[in-house]
Amino acid sequence: MMSTLRETSRRLMCATGSASVFVFDSRRNQKKIKTLAKPVAHGDAVSPLSGKRVLLRSFLTTMLLLFHVNAFGDEFTIKLDNGDTATLTARFAGEGRKATALEMPDGGWKLIPSDRIQQRTSGPDPKPLTHDELLQQINEEFSATRTISNIDKPFVIVLVRARPGALDPAVEKRYQNVVKKAGTFFKGMQTNFLEFVKQARIETQAVKFPLVALIFESDRHFDAYTARVTEDQGGLSSPNIAAFYDLQTNRLVIRLSECTTFDTPLHEAVHQQVYNRGILNRFAPIPSWFNEGIATGFEGDGDRVRSGPKSISDRYGQMALRARVVTWTEIVARDQPFQGDVLAAEAYGHAWGLHWLLVTKYRAEYNVLVKHYSGKKPLELDRPDERVAEFERIVGKSVPELQREFQLELPRAMARRKN
Ligand SMILES: [Zn+2]
Repeated sequence: MMSTLRETSRRLMCATGSASVFVFDSRRNQKKIKTLAKPVAHGDAVSPLSGKRVLLRSFLTTMLLLFHVNAFGDEFTIKLDNGDTATLTARFAGEGRKATALEMPDGGWKLIPSDRIQQRTSGPDPKPLTHDELLQQINEEFSATRTISNIDKPFVIVLVRARPGALDPAVEKRYQNVVKKAGTFFKGMQTNFLEFVKQARIETQAVKFPLVALIFESDRHFDAYTARVTEDQGGLSSPNIAAFYDLQTNRLVIRLSECTTFDTPLHEAVHQQVYNRGILNRFAPIPSWFNEGIATGFEGDGDRVRSGPKSISDRYGQMALRARVVTWTEIVARDQPFQGDVLAAEAYGHAWGLHWLLVTKYRAEYNVLVKHYSGKKPLELDRPDERVAEFERIVGKSVPELQREFQLELPRAMARRKN
């Protein structure tokens, strides 16, 4: 069915305390993982809340840019490292774990150590930037002579070229096609995604901000950008990352080399949808199995997008059935299995499998489960010790029992499909 899919390793970093949701193409580890199965790999990020000083520094670098934005909203007076104060207009998005999340007019969130906020004056919410305004902001960030863009609402897709200046017309045409194709793919994924949430009776909201996708022509520039936006997590080493969705900037960040099948970018774009349609709160303690399960339900093969978590995925289904080390109880209880290069293949397979079983056989329970995770607040403290109990209470069955059911059901469903 999806035999043309390139094997991809992924790594999600949306676990407890991490700043961003990242998916990695684990190129460096591909050989090692290939011997296991169709691979997927995950990892965790350093908590953004652990590096207050760094956080403030990166905050300062963007401060001037933000002051240009003429918007309404609460005014926050913030104490800077050098003792000065600065005033920032933003929407208060949440507080916890000693940090305050402020939502900016471009949809990005700033995490400010709460003890640095000296004063807050109420005002109406800032007006989200329009697609054109956001594109202009990106053009200023990277220089308009380096960007090739396509606004395909709600998406703003920008290809950042390796260098500015005139382009060979053939290359220019190719790049125009890339941003156009990206728009078509993201829209296709969005249509399938909205159909899935409608069928699952999941409440959604209209997207509030334009959804940005940045495509880097140069791997070196992709690496540098990734290191910069993850500075408050210690600057991620990025040669293994193919694409990621960043919870802080709300952007999809993609290597141009991934824009052939769009497999990994599509997976990332599902995370972006989930966090921009009011289904989950950014920086809320959402288990990785839930985040990854929903995203693995959508796959692309360069021509089309598979319909959603209710369809059988040959790739992830096989991974789940072949798994010998990781169990469903482990992925419900903890995010760690998603973070190793080897065990992650099994964890991703299980995340898909658990989601598939729930959306096909436990629809009512799945709906309550989604509401439960939707209720988790930004920066809320994670309680891994409660995860299995709350899951079993909602679904009404033990996790091992569900896994046994899946091991019987999936091969049957696969056989039915082939007949
Ligand atoms: Zn993911």
